[in-house]
Amino acid sequence: MLVTGAGSGIGRSTALLLHQLGARLSVVDRDEAGLAALCADLNATNDNGAVTAHVADLANLDAIPDLVTQCVDANGLLHSVVHCAGIQAIMPLRTLQIESWRKIFAVNTEAGLVLAKAMSNRKVYAGDDGAIVFISSVMAQAGSVGAIAYSMSKAALEGIARSLSLELAPRRIRVNCIAPGFVRTPLFEQTEKLWDDAARKAVENLHPLGFGRPEDVANAVAFLIADTGRWITGSTLVVDGGYLAR
Ligand code: NAD
Repeated sequence: MLVTGAGSGIGRSTALLLHQLGARLSVVDRDEAGLAALCADLNATNDNGAVTAHVADLANLDAIPDLVTQCVDANGLLHSVVHCAGIQAIMPLRTLQIESWRKIFAVNTEAGLVLAKAMSNRKVYAGDDGAIVFISSVMAQAGSVGAIAYSMSKAALEGIARSLSLELAPRRIRVNCIAPGFVRTPLFEQTEKLWDDAARKAVENLHPLGFGRPEDVANAVAFLIADTGRWITGSTLVVDGGYLAR
């Protein structure tokens, strides 16, 4: 399995859980220190080859096929890809620049598509019961001031997953998204810094079950990848503490 964004937050929790469940893992992130900390926690970087770490900037889309080949060479054919790497920047329309929304789109969306294309290659895909999971967001379905580029990137990801699920079903590769609400991670903390107490409380109140934990999303990833998700494809699983229920 390949997990992107494994150096922090949801990707890190996902890698920890999948490893605990016995998966052979290739973990990818641009943050070398984050990957090193993950591998130290897994305590298995080179133990029986179960985990290999790959430092890469996924904004460099042209390099992704080679990266996937390196993962396969190091750790065997792929059964699943989980694309957790993502970036966000609060950019209201007046400050929104083409270059910055393209950067968000490249990492959040296009990298996921390039990874899916690479995984579907016969020299990469293990051959049966494969799964691709993209981490979307409630912002694909709900608007928020300053989230135009982020919302675009996540809504596109969900559109890609639906069409891709139809193309890849004959090859037994399921494609799904997970749409989390606000989850306590370094990405969340970066946004939280912009809020005063009242704003923070207002956002928390949008979640009837409160803010989420990275493990809440990791559990949903494991459910979709495993046999428990065998009849689910082209879907978005909302994991949001009730954010979208209103
Ligand atoms: P995070 O910042 O804790 O982790 C994201 C990881 O992605 C980091 O380790 C970072 O280094 C890596 N990354 C970013 N850009 C990269 C690039 N160009 N190449 C390689 N690696 C890169 O964030 P998180 O909260 O764990 O977010 C994970 C995913 O979940 C993202 O796609 C995010 O949009 C989504 N999400 C998060 C929340 C939330 O509230 N935290 C809510 C909804 C969706």
